[in-house]
Amino acid sequence: MRITFLGTGTSYGVPMPGCTCAVCQSPDPRDKRFRTAILIEASGQTILMDTPPDLRSQCLAHNIQKIDATLITHAHADHVFGFDDLRPYTNRMAEPMPVWASPGTVQALRRVFDYLDRPPIPGTSQARIALHTAEAPFDFHGIRCTPLPATHGYADMIGWKLEHAGRSFAAIPDCKELPAETLALCRGVDLVVVDALRVRPHPTHMNFAEAVAVLDQIQARQSLVIHLCHEVSHEQARQLLPPHIAPSYDGLQIEL
Ligand SMILES: [Zn+2]
Ligand SMILES: [Zn+2]
Ligand SMILES: [Zn+2]
Repeated sequence: MRITFLGTGTSYGVPMPGCTCAVCQSPDPRDKRFRTAILIEASGQTILMDTPPDLRSQCLAHNIQKIDATLITHAHADHVFGFDDLRPYTNRMAEPMPVWASPGTVQALRRVFDYLDRPPIPGTSQARIALHTAEAPFDFHGIRCTPLPATHGYADMIGWKLEHAGRSFAAIPDCKELPAETLALCRGVDLVVVDALRVRPHPTHMNFAEAVAVLDQIQARQSLVIHLCHEVSHEQARQLLPPHIAPSYDGLQIEL
């Protein structure tokens, strides 16, 4: 299984437009953070997690040739407003692209992208999507996909665990708390990545201390944090985190 971090930043992205802080002006390429999205390749399939507003740029930057399926974590703008950028991929597929999301997120997607429920006008090119509600684990080409409920403000938030050929990866990019069932599902995975917005507390995101506490309960072989804001540089994050936990960054690729 190959994991590629297409974006690791919070909803504003880093740099944040109009901001002149040290992190937003940093020359370190790891301080350039697109909004959060992750690509998972396994079993000959390419699976995208989330469709941020940066998706087109991320697809071009990584020369992504195909996306076979998409998993959505929740319907906040920074995770779904690039949904239409799935079009160039869906329009080359024989069948509509399967997209899985929680019940609340499916509802929100149908409201925001109302074409999903309308027959296409011949000659136009809207995204060809088969939208599925994910309430239980399912298999996609031998890849086990398990929704991971999480608390994240008003959002009907799920992270995702993917398993293939004895390898496992869990990602919960936005969360404040993880219920016991999600902690149990994540325990001992090969790679886990969770939300760590910044050092200061936030009402709907975990800060660094909360993320470290959760990761220490999960006890994965490899632990990362994601969804960082402009209050911490990559280098500062590396120093703030204990040695067994690392900040992710755009372009990071991990083979499991
Ligand atoms: Zn987010
Ligand atoms: Zn800034
Ligand atoms: Zn969110």
